[in-house]
Amino acid sequence: MKNIPELFGSMVFNETVMQTRLPKDIFKALKKTMLRGTHLELDLANVVANAMKDWAVEKGATHFTHWFHPMTGITAEKHDSFISPVGNGKVIMEFSGKELVRGEPDASSFPSGGLRNTFEARGYTVWDITSYAFIKDDTLYIPTAFCSYGGESLDKKTPLLRSMEALHFQALRILRLFGNNAAERVITTVGPEQEYFLIDKEVYLKRPDLLYTGRTLFGARPSKGQELDDHYFGSLKPRVSAFMKELEEELWKLGVYAKTKHDEVAPGQHEMAPIFTTTNIATDHNQLTMEFMKKIALKHDLACLLHEKPFAGVNGSGKHNNWSITTDLGGNLLEPGETPHENAQFLLFLVAVVKAVDTYQDLLRASVASAGNDHRLGANEAPPAIVSMFLGDELTAVLDAIESGEDYRGSNSQPMEIGVTALPHFPKDTTDRNRTSPFAFTGNKFEFRMLGSTFSIAETNIALNTAVAESLRCFADILEKETDFKAGLAALIKKTIKEHKRIIFNGNNYSDEWVVEAEKRGLSNLRTTVEALPAMTLQSNIELFDKHSVYSETEMRSRYEIHMESYCKTIIIEALTMVEMVKTGIIPASVAYQNELAKLLKLKKEFGDFSYSLEDRMLEKISKLCNALLKKLDTLEEALEKAEDDHDILAHAKFCREKIFMAMSELRLVADELETLIDKKEWPFPSYSELLYSVL
Ligand code: ADP
Ligand code: MG
Repeated sequence: MKNIPELFGSMVFNETVMQTRLPKDIFKALKKTMLRGTHLELDLANVVANAMKDWAVEKGATHFTHWFHPMTGITAEKHDSFISPVGNGKVIMEFSGKELVRGEPDASSFPSGGLRNTFEARGYTVWDITSYAFIKDDTLYIPTAFCSYGGESLDKKTPLLRSMEALHFQALRILRLFGNNAAERVITTVGPEQEYFLIDKEVYLKRPDLLYTGRTLFGARPSKGQELDDHYFGSLKPRVSAFMKELEEELWKLGVYAKTKHDEVAPGQHEMAPIFTTTNIATDHNQLTMEFMKKIALKHDLACLLHEKPFAGVNGSGKHNNWSITTDLGGNLLEPGETPHENAQFLLFLVAVVKAVDTYQDLLRASVASAGNDHRLGANEAPPAIVSMFLGDELTAVLDAIESGEDYRGSNSQPMEIGVTALPHFPKDTTDRNRTSPFAFTGNKFEFRMLGSTFSIAETNIALNTAVAESLRCFADILEKETDFKAGLAALIKKTIKEHKRIIFNGNNYSDEWVVEAEKRGLSNLRTTVEALPAMTLQSNIELFDKHSVYSETEMRSRYEIHMESYCKTIIIEALTMVEMVKTGIIPASVAYQNELAKLLKLKKEFGDFSYSLEDRMLEKISKLCNALLKKLDTLEEALEKAEDDHDILAHAKFCREKIFMAMSELRLVADELETLIDKKEWPFPSYSELLYSVL
């Protein structure tokens, strides 16, 4: 039996390690800087760096790296060793404060959306002091933010930290109004649930589509998919269980609170959920989780698929962003309280989120837009592309009563008066029964369910934090001027409910009626990435981020470009992969099988059998499909040729969606039908059954 508490965080330069290894005054100063998220002075940094290096070297580290989140969606790192020459051919291990707080990686090969021209190729990384350094692969990892030389952010960490700061600043104004003078910091917390597939490595390697694009571009439906619901919460297969155990242990060493694991709905699909933590740390940890999932899978001769939709016809994978707001004193601001005072504050924060999600629904939608996620949203397995909020019947009834000024007569019969009466007690398990909602209140947090499994959680939380910060700013501006706080507060809550209640929907989000109803309510329904991303360039959205110093207009526009480009590139890579698979795999297999049939027919004729036979029928069917296949292939190749001419990014993306993607879908239909007719021995790729049921 391993000693888990001892193992946990053993590779992390956390507060306990800092406390034992740093002089008292230095530790105190560092803690203060961490709490405020401010810069570290160089003399302080030198002491911290040295202690960090000693600790890391004792644990076997030879290198250090500034670890950052560029716009590629994955993390980046460049390793330097600790060695420093001391003359006479000898070295010592050294690490300075300067090296700890600042790095200068060449930024020219990271996506910048036109922010940086090549002669300004330098970028710099700065230690995110609120996220602990850790050791992985004998290297000391320092979580950092990544900026261009001009100070524009080139990563997802910088704006995330800025958005947390914005929310902190505005929320603190509200807390002070409620007489809370003790809290110094308001923090957003996130617990991201991560879905993934595991398949056998051997079959994985035989699928160029999985290798190049992460999803199957072809594949006839298997006889058995997820219809029987026999995989969800099933007993873990030994290989899967061994994988999960190793994953947990590796994550625990790095201080990741891996907590829950289980099988998901689709065959081969699983989930891991951590205990929540501060948003930037949760973001770092989720990246590590995805990285380790892939790495550890390979050690077990498995392949971990993180794509949103690796298989057509069975559920894809998402990521649930559980989000809440707390203070440094530990109070969860989205927890209904016991007293009228606490509840008035709870209601104000609640309606702040309602207002934020309604006003900036398009930004939240854009934050989950990608070519991969387009396959999931609205496919009756994940929320639709329409953003709405689930509050549950009881809480909605309370808001209705406040709005109409009528008595709330739910579980208790007292009239509701904000700041005077307490909310009725909501039993927790009645709050989370709607799994179809994109944005559900689950008792003391919100669960945003539209993220795709490969996403970094950064962008969603940047949008969410900033939108809520803006609600709170509006509220604080109004309430700070109120002479009668209680009356002003009640009026403000009532007004906010009235203006934004259209975003609340407790019904079935998968139903067709909701699409109609949502349109009546004026909610946007941005079905694809191409429709969703332009929200990033709307003036009102640019102003939001600019006002809270999260993104400048230039940064926003560059991000829009990056996402659009990445969408187009993804579609084009998928299309090219399809072309290759058809030309070098599917056509030769079809020809080979037709040859076999033709040979058989020839033989029969030589023996005088001229009847219309099975072989005739099969040949006819297959050659018809092959003709159709060639036609669809031509259409796709023509579209691909045309695509290169376009320079307007939105037009290019539209072309990718409307022409290339459509041609891909049509090509797939024909190829999948061919797969059902051709000899298994000839078909060049493992079938869906072989993939989905490859782990025994
Ligand atoms: P589900 O029913 O959706 O599986 P769980 O109760 O298992 O939900 O919790 C899902 C996630 O919500 C976990 O990662 C958990 O840590 C996270 N969570 C719980 N409370 C909070 C909170 N206050 N802030 C952020 N995340 C939270
Ligand atoms: Mg969940």
